[in-house]
Amino acid sequence: MPRFEYAPAPESRSVVDIRSSYGLFIGGEFVESSGDASFKTISPATEEVLADITEATADDVDRAVRSARQAYRGVWGRMSGADRGKYLFRIARIMQERAREFAVLETLDNGKPIKESRDVDIPLAAAHFFYHAGWADKLEYAGLAPAGGRPPRPIGVVGQVIPWNFPLLMLSWKIAPALACGNTVVLKPAETTPLTALLFAEVCQQADLPPGVVNIVTGAGDTGRALVEHPGVDKIAFTGSTEVGKAIARTIAGTRVRATLELGGKAANIVFDDAPVDQAVEGIVNGIFFNQGHVCCAGSRLLVQEPVHDEVIRKLKRRLTTIRVGDPLDKNTDLGAINSAAQLDRIRELSGIAEAEGAVRWSPPCELPSRGFWFPPTVFTGVAQTHRIAQEEVFGPVLSVLTFRTPQEAVAKANNTPYGLSAGVWTDKGSRILWMADQLRAGVVWANTFNKFDPTSPFGGFKESGYGREGGRHGLEGYVTTGDDQ
Ligand code: NDP
Repeated sequence: MPRFEYAPAPESRSVVDIRSSYGLFIGGEFVESSGDASFKTISPATEEVLADITEATADDVDRAVRSARQAYRGVWGRMSGADRGKYLFRIARIMQERAREFAVLETLDNGKPIKESRDVDIPLAAAHFFYHAGWADKLEYAGLAPAGGRPPRPIGVVGQVIPWNFPLLMLSWKIAPALACGNTVVLKPAETTPLTALLFAEVCQQADLPPGVVNIVTGAGDTGRALVEHPGVDKIAFTGSTEVGKAIARTIAGTRVRATLELGGKAANIVFDDAPVDQAVEGIVNGIFFNQGHVCCAGSRLLVQEPVHDEVIRKLKRRLTTIRVGDPLDKNTDLGAINSAAQLDRIRELSGIAEAEGAVRWSPPCELPSRGFWFPPTVFTGVAQTHRIAQEEVFGPVLSVLTFRTPQEAVAKANNTPYGLSAGVWTDKGSRILWMADQLRAGVVWANTFNKFDPTSPFGGFKESGYGREGGRHGLEGYVTTGDDQ
């Protein structure tokens, strides 16, 4: 069959207006830091400097927490749910109106393909605000309080720390439920991807959100730590590595501060011999190569039943030769840039270890750009459970392939990691799907699909993947109290 070449189809950058430098968003305004430290945010696809970002000090964090407290006591904590809902609807609509601007900015700062930021990240982020706007005046009917008990009430000031893989989407997972429930927030975006959070600050201004309800402090790990350690914060919501999640849990242990932690994963994507193979191959590709594999619930371990192993691998390799790697702003690109030099080093290191431990490495022929941070789609076959690549989160476009014979063996292997965030099952039999879902220690189990997200559906982990749920009615539980403690 002839191979069609794709002509370049670049999305225009002219829709975004990136300032040369950004302050902190505190009390409804962009303000200067008490210190003078700053850092550059770059495009990982080209290493071009995009903007100079303020590194918030502990004093700045304190100012932001005070501002959030004032807004909570003065206005937001007392406002009716119906009125809070109007603000959330307004924010959601502005995000939709400015969707193209958000998508281009996210792609520039993060390196993800424009078709993913345009079709997944930004629409889902707006959907989270729409969904939670609907809850704001219905919390009493959400079944959150025991029968006859006090109605659910906000917790107070929430400190939120998010990672770089879905910058705006993670912001919306955090801010939308917090605000719907009547809390105010101080959010720290990741160091490498602050720009869409700062654009969101402008949206808050545009929506006339009362000052101090949302505060955004940029910085690195030290800024995050200052927020977590601040005595004025009532709850911490964190998404990121298990290592930092454990450090946060240690910091708040023994205090009254609550936490929800959404941490790492090492999901098994399990293909049985009765699965529709072509459909499963698409699911495998979506499971691990979506967003460069920078996905906590990525299907990074493929478990294939032995009779179909060779067929699945042959078709998977053929499919991967059609993946287009390159300019994230090109509308035809499937796989964009790795988010940072540090993350690229980690992917290279773990891939090198996998080879040294005896796994067989394969990548399709593909030309990588000379500037920026790039890694080809990679498949390791012959992986054993003891290999580090089968145990540790790579957080990159790297798939490990293992085999199994019986459903019991698939379950044992799937559950054999410290994580428990997600899993996928591919089979023709509904009864087997239900049995597997019951046996798998994973917060989310997808059946004959993978990486499907919806604001109405709770998301979260077992074991070292964290605790608490985000999304759906269950996600509200982390942002209200029904006891006498507030
Ligand atoms: P981190 O867990 O370090 O980063 C997540 C967020 O926490 C960032 O905003 C980070 O700030 C902040 N942070 C860092 N240290 C602290 C601290 N002591 N107290 C409070 N906040 C802190 O992840 P990395 O970006 O370093 O990635 C490392 C590995 O973690 C990846 O290779 C991947 O395996 C995993 N990871 C998993 C994610 C998931 O969703 N499960 C998301 C991101 C990473 P800053 O970015 O400025 O350092």
